[in-house]
Amino acid sequence: MHKTYTSEQNDDCPSDERQRLADPSERIDFVCRQCGGCCTNTTPYVTPLDVWRLARFLDISTSNIIRKHLIIIETDLPGVANMGRVPLLALRMAGRGRSQLHSKQCVFLNRETHRCTVYAARPLSCRMFPAGLQHSTDGNGDSPEKNFHYVLVQPLPECNGYGAGCNTLQQYLAGDVHDDDLDCWRQYTDLMVRTFQGNDLASNEDFADSFLAAIFDLDGRDGADFNACFEQGRNLVTGWLA
Ligand code: SF4
Ligand code: SF4
Repeated sequence: MHKTYTSEQNDDCPSDERQRLADPSERIDFVCRQCGGCCTNTTPYVTPLDVWRLARFLDISTSNIIRKHLIIIETDLPGVANMGRVPLLALRMAGRGRSQLHSKQCVFLNRETHRCTVYAARPLSCRMFPAGLQHSTDGNGDSPEKNFHYVLVQPLPECNGYGAGCNTLQQYLAGDVHDDDLDCWRQYTDLMVRTFQGNDLASNEDFADSFLAAIFDLDGRDGADFNACFEQGRNLVTGWLA
């Protein structure tokens, strides 16, 4: 058990079999109905920018967001070779036993209205669903500087969004996914791979806790700007690896 944060193993992270690469120009014909179905059946991973936004939306510190609302999930990174399980942060699920991960509901879901209570600050993974991002280790992502591929997750039976729109993946994402989200995801994932690929550092729980605190708990950094604080966190980790 991690000393600082609560952790779980996750064998249900979308594996290569449950997701496929997708081209941004691909027709997906999808509209989110905001029914809350995927808020019960997924594990919403968060980026450092997601945590920053949630903290400001809820007017609490990034430290409190992490301790109250997030959990460490030790899981595989689909598509990345020579990596053991890595520690990712995800929204905490509540309501059922620990062994029934997928029958729990997100802590931010209103159980009566089935609406998201942090909708304007919901994480990137929530805004992208049923699409996602996969790190590209071959340097041939959707563009070289991005270093990631788009993926589509297998349809959820409880999701009513399929066939309801008339759009491409790019059009669907355009409204809610922005360059700063993608930049943060790429920088975060690049650092994750550089830190944990080819070694067993992820099994060192003190190191894993320090890694997550360095790049997610940004309120203690100098400055009020996310990018400056995130860069300080990344530099801290890079210094440990030197
Ligand atoms: S289950 Fe589908 S339609 Fe419902 S909130 Fe999730 S993505 Fe939207
Ligand atoms: S943050 Fe909102 S959209 Fe995301 S899983 Fe939780 S309730 Fe659903």
